[in-house]
Amino acid sequence: MIKIGIVGYGNLGRGVECAVHHSQDMELAGVFTRRNPETVKTHTDVPVYDMEKLYDMQGDIDVLVLCGGSANDLPKQTVELAQYFNVVDSFDTHAKIPEHFSNVNQSSEKGKHISIISVGWDPGLFSLNRLYGQAILPNGNDYTFWGKGVSQGHSDAIRRIAGVKDARQYTIPVDAALESVRNGENPTLTTREKHTRECFVVAEDGADLKVIEETIKTMPNYFADYDTTVHFISEEELMRDHQGIPHGGVVLRSGTTGFDYENKHVIEYKLTLDSNPEFTSSVLVAYARAAYRMHQEGQCGCKTVFDIAPAYLHVESGEELRKKLL
Ligand code: NDP
Repeated sequence: MIKIGIVGYGNLGRGVECAVHHSQDMELAGVFTRRNPETVKTHTDVPVYDMEKLYDMQGDIDVLVLCGGSANDLPKQTVELAQYFNVVDSFDTHAKIPEHFSNVNQSSEKGKHISIISVGWDPGLFSLNRLYGQAILPNGNDYTFWGKGVSQGHSDAIRRIAGVKDARQYTIPVDAALESVRNGENPTLTTREKHTRECFVVAEDGADLKVIEETIKTMPNYFADYDTTVHFISEEELMRDHQGIPHGGVVLRSGTTGFDYENKHVIEYKLTLDSNPEFTSSVLVAYARAAYRMHQEGQCGCKTVFDIAPAYLHVESGEELRKKLL
């Protein structure tokens, strides 16, 4: 059995607990938190420990799945822990991935462990599909559409507006843009032409709704470049209709082959997710299996999804996979 440790128990931490629970070749060694362990209630009977306990348990853990936030937790936690453990994280600040890779790589090499960073769906499975698309159809264009799904960052931005009690923001691809790409038309699309934003807002009693709506729609970086719809709803409606964390999206590569580039091809990879964190956690757990196997083979250093051969992810052996899936 592969022994998994979970570092950080938020949405992803819960998702990893669930995915390991359903994995026949894995078991949980513990959840490690910066909070008082007694205040952290898990779904199963997995023990919860203070983070400090981790270093006493090196022999009990094969791979740590790091479930902290990308903004403040992972740049520190992954780098620190990669020296002592095999680790997998979901670092998703795209612009900072090269810097994160280099820091984590140094630690992993020092401790002769494997680390796999930026695992999930974007970055992660979407990145892989962009790579396959470009490798196979070098003469073409990439398109990524996100949604329909909840954007945590945009929901938070609305919550910070004066007079807003709570909010949920959905990012939605524009159908006409998607259709045009699917038809191989290779359109040049502006930000506004690709996605719309729909906001469900609970306002404080007596708040000026017109001012809130205007503040949202004109917010630079977040909403100003999009067609944005704002709906004011009651707290009950928000609780009843908007508690899930769905997401998903589509990666397309549209390209041509032939000596005169006369033949069109479109590759489409689509995700429709009821729960963004549970899905992301399931990806993390598959890559934790890969980290374990690669470390068993004596490999070390930092990797991304680009470096992991697919067979390492699957619970079955190469021989079984060749029989069943090729
Ligand atoms: P959360 O905010 O739910 O959890 C982050 C950390 O916050 C936890 O590890 C936990 O650490 C702490 N925490 C959680 N709940 C509480 C609480 N009630 N009180 C105090 N602290 C708490 O983040 P998510 O799990 O939703 O996401 C983590 C990261 O995953 C995101 O930052 C995002 O970047 C990334 N992600 C990547 C994706 C990809 O495709 N690559 C997709 C989705 C997310 P502790 O237990 O130590 O307190």
